[in-house]
Amino acid sequence: MKASLAPIILLCLTIALVWHAKALESAPGRLVVLTFDDSVASHATFVAPLLKKHGFGATFFITEGFEFSVDKVHYMTWEQIKALDAAGFEIGNHTRKHAGVAKQKPEQLAADVEYIEQQCAANGIARPTSFCYPGYQTSEAAVTLLRGRGYRFARAGGAKAFDPATDEPLTMPQAFDGKPESTLEQFKAAVAQARDGRIAVMTFHGVPDIKHPWVNTDPAKFESYMEHLKAEGCQVIAMRDLAKYLPLKK
Ligand SMILES: [Zn+2]
Repeated sequence: MKASLAPIILLCLTIALVWHAKALESAPGRLVVLTFDDSVASHATFVAPLLKKHGFGATFFITEGFEFSVDKVHYMTWEQIKALDAAGFEIGNHTRKHAGVAKQKPEQLAADVEYIEQQCAANGIARPTSFCYPGYQTSEAAVTLLRGRGYRFARAGGAKAFDPATDEPLTMPQAFDGKPESTLEQFKAAVAQARDGRIAVMTFHGVPDIKHPWVNTDPAKFESYMEHLKAEGCQVIAMRDLAKYLPLKK
């Protein structure tokens, strides 16, 4: 009797395990958005190939600020940015000059935002719908301008998960800000915030970032972060892909 029940119990256990795995897969708490600021060359040479290997999406926020126009060793070329787009990554707008939006006149900000849109158009890249505030400074005028230009998401600074139920998508907070002193434990804590409908938006600069060492992320450390996302079974997406998961308020 006992022996004949064993296969049935085993089958029930298997079904329960498969059901549990499916439930985890579809849980909204598994969403992580990866973002990379400042058009750093290592985004094209190191980050993108690694993300492709893992099947992760990401948003690269492009600015022509800093020494973008003269230093083509440390900053991406538009050819490389175009290749990121062609590889399926999102190209977001980080303004032409990387000036703090709160200090800009509305027409200056509009011109800087429009410039990146024009550069995208000239390179056959779709008009950006995601934005990143230079220096993480926001302003109400900037939010109004972005909304008017059709932007759906904009990332600021902070240190908390994005809660679509309460947070404005055009001043989205980050859950993690990659710095030289950041640890895998801190990254894990940020990932753990992605639950109950909240989304962990991660910020990185160069991996490595030679010209901006204060926002550098060591490549080996970055690999350990990505391994953690894989091990946790996170859905790792670009910012624009949030539209698929969120019942956005108008
Ligand atoms: Zn920046």
